[in-house]
Amino acid sequence: MKIAIDGPSGSGKSTIAKILAKKLGISYLDTGAMYRAIGYYVLSNNKSPDDEKAVIELLHGIKMDIWDENGIQQVAVNGQNVTPFIRENKISMAASTVSKIPAVRIKLVEIQRKIASKTDCVLDGRDIGSYVLPDAEYKFYLTANSLVRAQRRQAELASKGEILSVEKIKEEIEKRDEQDKNRTFAPLVICDDAVVIDTSFLSIEEVTDTVLNKICK
Ligand code: C5P
Repeated sequence: MKIAIDGPSGSGKSTIAKILAKKLGISYLDTGAMYRAIGYYVLSNNKSPDDEKAVIELLHGIKMDIWDENGIQQVAVNGQNVTPFIRENKISMAASTVSKIPAVRIKLVEIQRKIASKTDCVLDGRDIGSYVLPDAEYKFYLTANSLVRAQRRQAELASKGEILSVEKIKEEIEKRDEQDKNRTFAPLVICDDAVVIDTSFLSIEEVTDTVLNKICK
């Protein structure tokens, strides 16, 4: 069983995907963490995520490992576990910018498909239903208004000690949405066969129930 959950930042994808994986006893892959790991690596090497040539040069030397540690996905780049650093706010835009580069996507999608081929799983991202796993049995597109998404993201960052205004986060996620929807290669789109759920005014339980009802009917 393959389940694709796509949608913009803060729509609730990863929260729902994690609950779903646990309830159904299947694996979960957070594909955003992989783009974040590349964004982090590029910044750590003092390169600009906009510098396509430099990113591609770095990409050639990157070995990415993904594994589960006590139910929490870990990502390492060239042996360094980057998981503690990739949720920082500055990494979000870096991830979105490097994700526009086709070579980056091709490399990461290959890893994603390989992982998905081995097991029943739920993947969350931007292009799972449209590009990574077009044959997934179940496809969901979660969305929410940008103010709600910014508030959720603010709470997530605050829980990790990063305090930012909702206005700044809202501006950034709208910029990121724009970039993710308008890139030429595998952009964020709503698949014709995806179930669209607006989570703006729904609880986590309500969204989970809606998704499970579609899968278990
Ligand atoms: O989901 P998350 O916000 O962690 O993703 C960070 C960025 O990675 C997104 O803004 C998007 O540009 C990119 N991404 C992507 N395709 C995916 C997952 C994430 O382009 N499947």
